[in-house]
Amino acid sequence: MTTQSTQPDCVFCRIVAGELPSHEVYSDDHVFAFLDIGPVAAGHLLLIPKTHCQNIVDLPADVASALGGVLPSMARAVVDVAGASGVNILQNNGACAGQVVDHVHFHLIPRTDDDGLGFRWRVGGYEAGEAEALGQKFRENLSQK
Ligand code: AMP
Ligand code: ZN
Repeated sequence: MTTQSTQPDCVFCRIVAGELPSHEVYSDDHVFAFLDIGPVAAGHLLLIPKTHCQNIVDLPADVASALGGVLPSMARAVVDVAGASGVNILQNNGACAGQVVDHVHFHLIPRTDDDGLGFRWRVGGYEAGEAEALGQKFRENLSQK
């Protein structure tokens, strides 16, 4: 397993270390979950690795695996406890993508039919041949990893 590292000036590392308060909901050797301080809806959780890692691009596979392993039970808890009928799992990487806290985190947001929350999701399309070329580029890129 990746050796745990902490950043003294990172708010989430400080929460994991118990230096800052949080409403903890789950903790194991590798991950920690707590209530978001500015909830989009009551029961909005954050799931984080205990080791400091800025964003998902740099996340070691074993840490990603630990996070992914608990996501389903975390989502089930959001449904049960928040009385949700759905859950959004949101994960921002980079300031341009809305990341404010530079320690990897997954938002779990309880959803109901009439909650009025929504997305700005501008649907586009591809020119002829563009999707084929992009698909090829992705396959080549991923085959080298
Ligand atoms: P993001 O924009 O994806 O980086 O989201 C960061 C999230 O961290 C926001 O939803 C904040 O409300 C939340 N947050 C920041 N500080 C704290 C804190 N001390 N305790 C709980 N949640 C926090
Ligand atoms: Zn950190």
